[in-house]
Amino acid sequence: MMKCQCGGLLRFDLQHLQDAGRLGVRDQVSLVWKCMVCGRSRKSDESYPLSQVVASLDQLTLADRSQG
Ligand SMILES: [Zn+2]
Repeated sequence: MMKCQCGGLLRFDLQHLQDAGRLGVRDQVSLVWKCMVCGRSRKSDESYPLSQVVASLDQLTLADRSQG
C-alpha cells in the first residue's frame, strides 16, 4: 500500500483516467494516486497505454462491485 509524505493513505485516482478516456487520449498516461488526507497527488514514474490501463481497471472495478 502506498503512502503519502504526510503519512496519509494514497488512493488510486480513477477520475483522472476516466477524464482521459472521455477526452479520447490515445497516448500513454501516467497513473495518479491522491492522498486522502492532504489531497496531494502522486504520479507514477512510468506511463502506460490508456487502453491497457483501462482494461486492467475494468477488472478491478468489477471485483469491487462483486464485493459491494
Ligand atoms: Zn498526504
